This record gives sequence, C-alpha cells and structure tokens, in this order.
Amino acid sequence: METALYRIKHSLPNPNFLGTQLESGQAERYSPSWRHPGFINPATWDLNSPDFSLGIYTDGSKINGHVGAAFSVFDPVHSGDLQFRLDDHCSVFQAELTAIKQALLWKKAQRPSAHCHLFTDSLSSLKALQKFKPNNNLVEDIQDLMDGTVSLHWVKAHIGIVGNEAADKAAKEASDRQVVDIHLGIPERTIKLHIKNLLLKEWQDRWNKTDTKGRYTFGIFPKVSTKICIDNHLLSQMVTNHGLCPYYLKRFQLRDCNCRCGEDQNDDIQHFLFWCPLLSSERSLIRPGMSILQILQDKRKIREAKSILNFVYSHQQDIFEEVS
Ligand SMILES: [Zn+2]
Repeated sequence: METALYRIKHSLPNPNFLGTQLESGQAERYSPSWRHPGFINPATWDLNSPDFSLGIYTDGSKINGHVGAAFSVFDPVHSGDLQFRLDDHCSVFQAELTAIKQALLWKKAQRPSAHCHLFTDSLSSLKALQKFKPNNNLVEDIQDLMDGTVSLHWVKAHIGIVGNEAADKAAKEASDRQVVDIHLGIPERTIKLHIKNLLLKEWQDRWNKTDTKGRYTFGIFPKVSTKICIDNHLLSQMVTNHGLCPYYLKRFQLRDCNCRCGEDQNDDIQHFLFWCPLLSSERSLIRPGMSILQILQDKRKIREAKSILNFVYSHQQDIFEEVS
C-alpha cells in the first residue's frame, strides 16, 4: 500500500496495487515552489463580524457527489455571486479553498485598493492558511493573494451559497447563471482511502476463501477489520482456541490429557469458558450458550473470561487428567 502511494506521489509509472491499475494521472500533486521566508504570509483570522463597505462570503460544498464553490460580493456598487463547478472527485476542503482563492482573484482584479472582509465557515481552510509550510499549492496561492487589504473572518454558522448550478451537473443547461469549471486533482486522502479499501477487500477475499487455517477465529470474526485489536494473551487464546486446554495440547502433541469433568469430548477453550462444571463457581456473568463476541462487547465479561482462563492455568493439576 505504501509503495503504491509512493509511486503515485512521485509520478512513477505503473502504480499497480493487488492487480488493480490505479489512476495516478489525476492525483493532486504538490509542486513546491521556493518562497522567500520573508514573503510567506500565514493568514490570521478572527470571529468578528464587522461593518464593511466591501464584504465577500465564500462557500464550498459537496452535494450528491457533485462539488461546487461560490462567493457572494456585498458592496454599495455591486452585489452578486459567482459559482464554480469542480470535478466530482474533489473534496469539500478543495471546494472551500477554491471559493476563497476565486474571491481573492476577483477582489484583486475588481477592487484592488478597497479594504475587503472575507468570510468563510471552513475552519480546516483557515487552519491550513495559518501554516508557514502548508505543502498545498491551493493554500499557498491564497497566502500569496492575501495582502493588507483583506481581513479573514470565520463564520461559525454554515454559509450556504453554493447553488444547485454549481453542485449539480444536470442543472447546468437549465441555469442561466454562469458556472465556471475548475479542474483540480484527486486529493491524496481520497486516493489513500481507495487503496485502503482495495486492501481490505483483498484481505476479506482471502479470509473467506481459506478453508483450513483460522476457521475457529473466522467463526467469531467473519468480517475483517482494522478496528479490533486483541493484545492480551488470554483473550487471544479465546479467539484462536490456541491455549491451555486439552484440545490444543493433544492437537499439537504436547500432552495427552482430558478434562476431569468428563462431560465434553471437545475440551477446548470454550469448554472452560462456558461449560465445564469444575469452573462453575468462577462464572457469574458468562453463561453457556453465549458467544465469544458477546464477551468481547462487555468489559465485565472480558474481566471474568480472563479470570476463568487464569484459574485454569493455576489449577491445571486439578483440572486436567493425563490419559494413561
Ligand atoms: Zn471440564
């Protein structure tokens, strides 16, 4: 996965991942340009809503998979807005930044000397603009456009000025308002997510297809996930059936023994967790017929399961009997 990402990032040929050819041509790439440290202009912003003679509200959004950006100008001479449509693969973050950049370009061309208050509801954009080294061309462009005539303000409430024209392709023909197309690359996060999903799919396929190994664990976790982490040796015995029990000891020819209770041919981990009468005094929450998953979902049951398996460990002399 890391190799595929590296190849895409560095425009190397054949970024292939698990047999899937990745479309690396469209990836958003950062092209560093040398900026004199003295001219780098990390943005500052506040939550004020001052009176203004020139104010611009910016907004970007993703609706039904379509991405749009827009800004609205308010001043005594002119009021109106401009809308932009971005490619569907673009993120809301790209859209918000595009709205700010286009607003600043408009301001620079139309009102170069007027003081302008620019409003956005995108905190992630503002935080990116605050960075000295944002490593993002869109952010750097905005920093370069910001000068003493622009003040940035964060609006906590949602600014909703992206019309359907910008966000919805189908509406283009019907609209009489002009929508400008802007093309940006696929964000790295989207590509990462795509590759990660391919990886999970491959893992799931292999987990489904294997018919010999790990089938006990498959019965508990049929669906693969990176969210579950079992880091305790007792719990790992519970979810693998590999642990201190006659079933395992016999299977791996470590010891030939049975459980003294004599009630279960298959004296595996679950026998001790749920069934064995020799351990009934150790059980208060865990009951026969429960599933391993039910134990894992409850902290108190987890604690009890651990203590049962610890009990087996410390009393193995009394619980296991050697087959003579
Ligand atoms: Zn038993």
